[in-house]
Parts: sequence; structure tokens; C-alpha cells
Amino acid sequence: MMNQPLLQKKDNLTSIQSARLSFPALDQSVNDHPLVYFDNAATTHKPLSVLKSIDQFYSSYNSNVHRGVHSLSEKATEQYENARKSIQGFINAESAQEIIFVKGTTDAINLIAQSYGRSNIQAGDEILITEMEHHSNIVPWQILAEQNGCKLNIIPFNEKGELILENLDQLLSSKTKLVSVVHASNSLGTVNPIETIIRKAHLKGIPVLIDAAQSIQHGKIDVQKLDCDFLAFSGHKIYGPTGIGVLYGKKTLLEEMPPYQGGGDMINYVSFEKTTYNELPYKFEAGTPNIAGGIGLGAAIEFFQSYDINSIIAKEQALLKYGQKKLLEVPGLQLIGTAENKTAVFSFVLKDIHPHDIGTILNQYGIAVRTGHHCTQPVMAHYKIPATVRASLVFYNTEREIDFLVEKLHAVNEVFK
Ligand code: PLP
Repeated sequence: MMNQPLLQKKDNLTSIQSARLSFPALDQSVNDHPLVYFDNAATTHKPLSVLKSIDQFYSSYNSNVHRGVHSLSEKATEQYENARKSIQGFINAESAQEIIFVKGTTDAINLIAQSYGRSNIQAGDEILITEMEHHSNIVPWQILAEQNGCKLNIIPFNEKGELILENLDQLLSSKTKLVSVVHASNSLGTVNPIETIIRKAHLKGIPVLIDAAQSIQHGKIDVQKLDCDFLAFSGHKIYGPTGIGVLYGKKTLLEEMPPYQGGGDMINYVSFEKTTYNELPYKFEAGTPNIAGGIGLGAAIEFFQSYDINSIIAKEQALLKYGQKKLLEVPGLQLIGTAENKTAVFSFVLKDIHPHDIGTILNQYGIAVRTGHHCTQPVMAHYKIPATVRASLVFYNTEREIDFLVEKLHAVNEVFK
């Protein structure tokens, strides 16, 4: 059966604790040690139900969508569009027409910059972002600025990695035409008060784009309740495949926007004199889409929703508390990003040992962490460091894995004594 998670017990701590059984890739050894996968902010592993849904598409009803009258194409179209409906329900969008399949968060933000941005933002206008954005929420606006002379304005953050919002009213000026903010920082873990930012921006009639790449997998997002105008996320960070993601947009705004790319499927009628465009969401989905990816993402959302979200949050927050306490037992370890409200992301530096050396040693024990600037160089510049080690956890991780990390960080200290 499509989209059937292995574990369907809701509201049950046992099912959360046994969640990792659904992930075949977690059950392996790396360098003769059981894999400890702490690189979930980069990409999460995929449950069996997602793998099966992709396999089933290719091995039984592989076909192109939307244009076929034959049975395989009809089935592919149905499954692909069902995935869109699952995502609509998951984020509580008003209509499935507001769910646009894209390659990922980066693609979604570029779409908004080049479509909404080029038609609504002019020379001298401002786009407000934060100091903790991923490069994918900085560079698309800089490209737009080069094209049309608009400017970027930045909300700063404090030493704990929390946004400084005292001056938000001034930063939201009459020139501000869009606010684009990250919900949860990938390098600090900070969860930003986007409700406040959206409310204040809307008081001045300014639309808001939320980068939910690092929040969609850690809580419940209701786009109608949030009242955000656009929201972007990547499938591969919420247990789905790579190369697929979602741009949510309010229908009224999407309808006004010109297409981002031209080609098949996004048109209504083409002639050399004039072309008319397809209705939403297809207007923004030129060419053959990532069909297997869409179906796989649908399966991932079904998998995620088969768990009680409050149990997921509780488990991840318990891992966060435990990890914060244990990591500080390592002599010389400094956590980067200590916001009150954060996801289970531990960015740290250890004395003057280079993060790449730490990551390389940890890998010898089967521990997968990420080292570097995490595509947030302005965050590194803020702390005057080139890089951090980042361990990012989700609900399939365990306290024992944290203990093992801490043990091996002590070993790193020994090596560099
Ligand atoms: N925004 C944030 C906060 C991220 O963490 C990432 C990826 O790590 C992105 C955007 C870009 O996501 P993708 O590379 O899937 O497009």
C-alpha cells in the first residue's frame, strides 16, 4: 500500500522511541561503530514507507503526469496530486492551488525573488531579512538588488543568537516591500518569534515570506493561523526525498505573480503571437516535475503525521536539554547559539581545535556531524569564528548517542592536549 508508515501508533511514547526502526540507513556501522547520525539539519534519513513509495512509482506505474489518458499516467497523476493535498492538509493551506512543488527551499525563495520581487519591488525599495539567514535567503535578494537596485535591511541578533526586535518598527519602513525571515536557524537552532514579525509587518501592509526549512520537521505549522504570505520548505529535511520542496503562497498573491519559468505544463494556450498561462499551481511548475519526489514527499508527510506532534516536540526538547548539559561537561567547549527557544541543534567550538579536525576524528567513531559555516557566513562573522561543529538531532536520536558524542569529544581533547 502507498504511503503506509510502518508505525502508526499515535500518542504513544513507545512508538516515538522505536521510530528509528523505520529508518533502514540508521541501522549500519561506520568505521566499525554503530552510526550516530547527527547531521539532520543538512538532511534527515528516509523511512521505509518513503523508500517504498518511490520504488513503487518507478517499478509499477512510472509515467508522466497531467497529460496522459492511459492508466499509468492517470495513476501517477492521482498519486502526485494526492501528495499535494496531503501537504495542503499538513500546513493547513486553504487550497491545494497554493501548494507549488519546487526543488526545495532555495528554489522557492528564488522563485519569489524573480517573480514577486521583480514585479513588486523597485529601485530604492527594501527587503528586510535577519542576520541569521541561510545563504539561500540572502543571495537571491542580492541578485534581485543587482537587477533592480533594491536594498537589503538586516534585523541583528544578540550574543545568545536571539533576534533584537526593539527596532523592528523602524526597520519596517515605508520603503520595505517584503520581509523574508528564517523560522529556525540552521546554525544556531534559534526559533524566531515569526508571529510577532508577521503581525507587525502586516500592520504596515508588508507581506512576509517564512523560510521553514528548519522548522517544518520540528513542530506544527498552520499557514492560515500564522497568516504568512509565503512559506518555503525542503522535502529532504522532513524525512522525504531530495530535489523536492514546497512553496506555499496565498492564492491572491500567486495569481498576481508572473510565471518564473516557461515551458510545458505551465501554459493554457501557446501561439507565436500570444501565450496564456495555466491556472495555479501549474503556472509555476514548468516542465516535467519531480514526480517520484512529490509522491515520496507525500509519503514523508503521512509518516510524520502518523506520530503525535507533541510527543515529537517533547522528545526533541528533552534531547536538547540533555545535550546542552552534557556537552558543557567537555572542558573548553563553547556552545554557539544559546537562545531560550531553540531546536535540538548544538553548534560549538572546542578550544582552538579546528572544527574539521573534530569532525574527522568523530567520524572515526561513526559519529556524523557537520563542520563549517553551514551556509551562514554572516553568523560566523558575528561570532568572529570561521566555523563550528554542528550536531543536529531529531526524534529518532537518543541520549545514549549524545553520551557517545561527549565521550569522544573528551577523546578529541586528549588528542590535542
Ligand atoms: N534555509 C535554511 C534555514 C536551511 O537550513 C537550508 C538548508 O540547509 C536552506 C534554507 C536551503 O535548503 P535547500 O538546500 O534544501 O534548498
